Amino acid sequence: MARRNIVKMGDPLLRKKCKEVTEFDGKLHQLLDDMADTLHFAEGLGLAAPQVGILKRVCIVEYDGVLYELVNPVLVKSKGKCVDNEGCLSVEGFRGLVERPKQIDITYYDRNGVKTDLHAEGYFARVFLHEMDHLDGILFADKMIRKIMD
Ligand code: ZN
Repeated sequence: MARRNIVKMGDPLLRKKCKEVTEFDGKLHQLLDDMADTLHFAEGLGLAAPQVGILKRVCIVEYDGVLYELVNPVLVKSKGKCVDNEGCLSVEGFRGLVERPKQIDITYYDRNGVKTDLHAEGYFARVFLHEMDHLDGILFADKMIRKIMD
């Protein structure tokens, strides 16, 4: 495992639409391992591949001590709305209040290409949605209804 540099807001890499993963190979596993290492070092809740400069539809979320590795995640269904506070490892100096669905159903592939379904609610859902936005070049700062200075 190796830590990778985190790309910061202002870098055009964060604004690209990422490409689907087609090969579930050693290179993907290395990326996921490095992303976990990077996330742990930065003490974040989630990290998306474009944040380490890789334009692939890959993100990880760590919540309640469980690490989720999402490859080609898709939002299938969402319900409700809620507003809460978000930050991002690529955005320094401020957090923001963002409105997102309260409940979501997503599908994704694991590192071996096995399809998985997941239901999430509240802040847990929010972390997935935040990371999935990164795969389409969207940052929380684009959606925030109020900026909160650190
Ligand atoms: Zn982020």
